[in-house]
Amino acid sequence: MTVTARAEPRTTKTPGRFSKALLGLFMKRATVAAVEDVADRFRLVTLEGAALRGVTWTPGQKIQVAMGSAFANRTYTPIRWDAAAGSTRILGYAHGEGPGSAWLRALRVGDECDVFGPRTSLDSSRTTAPLAVFGDETSIGLACALTSIDPLVSCCFEVGDAGSSGQVLARLGLAGATLVTRRDDDAHLREMEAALGTAMASGASFVLTGKAGTIQRLRQTLLWEGVTPARILTKAYWAPGKQGLD
Ligand SMILES: Cc1cc2nc3c(=O)[nH]c(=O)nc-3n(C[C@H](O)[C@H](O)[C@H](O)COP(=O)(O)OP(=O)(O)OC[C@H]3O[C@@H](n4cnc5c(N)ncnc54)[C@H](O)[C@@H]3O)c2cc1C
Repeated sequence: MTVTARAEPRTTKTPGRFSKALLGLFMKRATVAAVEDVADRFRLVTLEGAALRGVTWTPGQKIQVAMGSAFANRTYTPIRWDAAAGSTRILGYAHGEGPGSAWLRALRVGDECDVFGPRTSLDSSRTTAPLAVFGDETSIGLACALTSIDPLVSCCFEVGDAGSSGQVLARLGLAGATLVTRRDDDAHLREMEAALGTAMASGASFVLTGKAGTIQRLRQTLLWEGVTPARILTKAYWAPGKQGLD
């Protein structure tokens, strides 16, 4: 685990004049206060700034971070929000080469960014404990945020590298989560479907996020098994071939 030291402020790239005006109007300026390399590809990022003070946040909401322009942003899920101090924290997963992944990999303490939100994504007020979160690497931050509603939230994540994801879960106090290693032919989804059974028996509310196709399949399985739509919340975080899906 590495926590980087404070450095001179940097921004992702210089926005044009119009974009700059929009950023100033709608976005909150934040500074990177800490970056922790929790495991390969995973970074815990703490953002702080006067504009983050006095903000009302509920678990499940999202923020959008401008990627050097008001017209290009990527979405992340605050794990917590300290409205008094003016700080929030996200768990970013750098899956590939897109602007979000590149931003995350390059982040250093002292960098500045523009944040839109927090805004509604999943309406967690519709859910009551027990909660069952099914998702992937991008859903771990959400599961962590939801522990303030259900400290014993049960989780199942499809992941590329169970070792790295396991490290992240241990760091965030979610060590009891089930990890299912992703397979190209999606055969691992049968394991995730099997994991739905235990949560169904406990009367859980389901929160399905992450890859669009997986959400669709698990939702269908839940409906076939007689779970009412009211007990299922869904939000696609990404889909193959789509950029910055939101
Ligand atoms: C409401 C919401 C909350 C989110 N919260 C988080 C969060 O807390 N932490 C987090 O890390 N991500 C989160 N995401 C997901 C994140 O915004 C996307 O993964 C985003 O696409 C990453 O941007 P990028 O520029 O790296 O890739 P893009 O340029 O958007 O995508 C490039 C390619 O990579 C694919 N791709 C995108 N994401 C993944 C992935 N995870 N695995 C494999 N392939 C992928 C795309 O389909 C596309 O083909 C959230 C998304 C939403 C909508």
